[in-house]
Amino acid sequence: MKTYTRKDFLTKGALAAAGTGFLASCVGGESEANASPAIHTGKTYKWKMVTTWPPGFPAVGEGANLLAQWIEEMSGGRLKIKVYGAGELVPAFQVFDAVGSGAADIGSGASYYWAGKIAAAQFFASVPFGMNAQQVNAWIYSGGGQELWEEIYEPFGLIPMLGGNTGVQMGGWFNREINSLDDFKGLKMRIPGLGGKVLEKVGGTTVAIPGGEIYTSLETGVIDATEWIGPYHDFKMGFSDIAKYYYTPGWHEPGTALEVIVSKKKYDELPADLQAIVRTAAFRLNLWTLSEFEAKNASFLQQLLTDDKKFELRHFSPEVLTGLRATTQEVLNELTASDPLSKRVYDAYATFQQSIGGWAKITEKVYYEGIMK
Ligand code: CA
Repeated sequence: MKTYTRKDFLTKGALAAAGTGFLASCVGGESEANASPAIHTGKTYKWKMVTTWPPGFPAVGEGANLLAQWIEEMSGGRLKIKVYGAGELVPAFQVFDAVGSGAADIGSGASYYWAGKIAAAQFFASVPFGMNAQQVNAWIYSGGGQELWEEIYEPFGLIPMLGGNTGVQMGGWFNREINSLDDFKGLKMRIPGLGGKVLEKVGGTTVAIPGGEIYTSLETGVIDATEWIGPYHDFKMGFSDIAKYYYTPGWHEPGTALEVIVSKKKYDELPADLQAIVRTAAFRLNLWTLSEFEAKNASFLQQLLTDDKKFELRHFSPEVLTGLRATTQEVLNELTASDPLSKRVYDAYATFQQSIGGWAKITEKVYYEGIMK
């Protein structure tokens, strides 16, 4: 991309050119290089969408249904998508393989679910002490993240796109106070991904439990703690009735990106207008999902904090967060030392995070410090 000087920006022509570039980047950015026919034939395409979410699951399952609806509306019915919840066509964690193999055409999930297959994929979902939702969006859409993501999914026959974000999650529900890093020793917690690796490094034990069994496990003491998402989903899980403490913030998931994956073969068969519709619908889903999480988390937090609440809302202390952050760096160092692709993606992620963090430090940080007393 051309770098504009200050003088360029002051000319009308440069402004128009910059505007065009911006719009192009908003619908995928590569349409001019696309070899697919621009004129559609009226042919109707029928796709199957598989998801890692239970059918109609709040925000994320609902989002998959909306994506299909929007694509059908925008295409005038020329691209119809039938959505299958987890287990309806394939199990949740086979979504990546199903779309890659052509058994399904499009999928919805989160890239850390495929960490066992491509460790580097998890950097496109969430990194403990990593970027928040708007920073992840900036990295993917405007900071080179999309190109890198497409490159690492290409061998699997997949095109990845952002398909939502949870926003900052909560730290989880605990039946034990966490006043120092030592309090994690012996703690049995349901916490997946890189966050789970960090917990293990500070002496805790991670327990893998399906969503439907977490409540009973916490109630009966099989686990001492669990993280889930945020107040909206946590409220529906009922954890507030059986846990003593609700800790903030979700240091392990500060802005988890959800993804839409599309079969590259099926995408390439579409005329250019339908390709643009798929990408534009994913953009809309990304914004809709984050908005849904933010609005609902805010109102459900109020609902959780009613007068008859049985739990205490707690903040992890700065010392606990500093310790977890240092441990996170150890986990990331080990991962990137053992996997060159993870190193490449993490280096790109960390470089962008450092840059955008410097910007946030003199804008949002100062702003929030000034208004939130
Ligand atoms: Ca979570």
